[in-house]
Amino acid sequence: MYLKSIEVQGFKSFANKILFEFHDGITGIVGPNGSGKSNVADAVRWVLGEQSAKQLRGSKMEDIIFSGTETRKPLGLAYVAITLDNKDHKLPIEYDEVTVARRVYRSGESEYLINGHSCRLKDVQELFLDTGIGKEGYSIIGQGQIDKILSGKPEDRRELFDEAAGIVKFKKRKAIAGKNLEEEKQNLYRINDILIEIE
Ligand code: ATP
Repeated sequence: MYLKSIEVQGFKSFANKILFEFHDGITGIVGPNGSGKSNVADAVRWVLGEQSAKQLRGSKMEDIIFSGTETRKPLGLAYVAITLDNKDHKLPIEYDEVTVARRVYRSGESEYLINGHSCRLKDVQELFLDTGIGKEGYSIIGQGQIDKILSGKPEDRRELFDEAAGIVKFKKRKAIAGKNLEEEKQNLYRINDILIEIE
């Protein structure tokens, strides 16, 4: 699995539609300070479901929509799509190529899409679970993040290892099963109470 392309339009400094295509090997993005290099990584974080404006270096989510320049009016919509090669089927979906997209309007209305079909944030998160990709994944290492990992709490560091070992989905399922079990226990107590009353 590898990242084939990123398409952005109206996202941060990218007013026009831009397509970044990646090929085998390492790709470097170079440019002067403030030219938008980090905005490319922010676009990937955002499309993968980032909900925190702070993580995207803004103060509110609207800040990710192109806010205009001296010569250009602000836009009302931001759109990002990433396309991944999935020939090895590391992503649990039958397609050989997967495009995940997100769009948001200034009104706050937003939408996620997987291969052109509208879906929930949860579907995007589940698609990337245990792959290292995702807003919490280790595939995007931001400035200062290594320091944060090294000086962080052991439990936080453990999450990275869990993701790499591919056990996060099992932990999530265990938590859901535990919650269901607890609810069923409560139901049984209630049934027992009713039975005692009837007897
Ligand atoms: P550095 O090398 O200093 O880290 P960089 O190349 O990584 O810089 P970015 O931080 O990606 O640059 O981009 C910053 C630029 O993006 C700034 O010029 C800022 O004005 C612009 N920008 C951020 N959000 C928006 C927005 N919503 N609308 C228009 N421009 C934006």
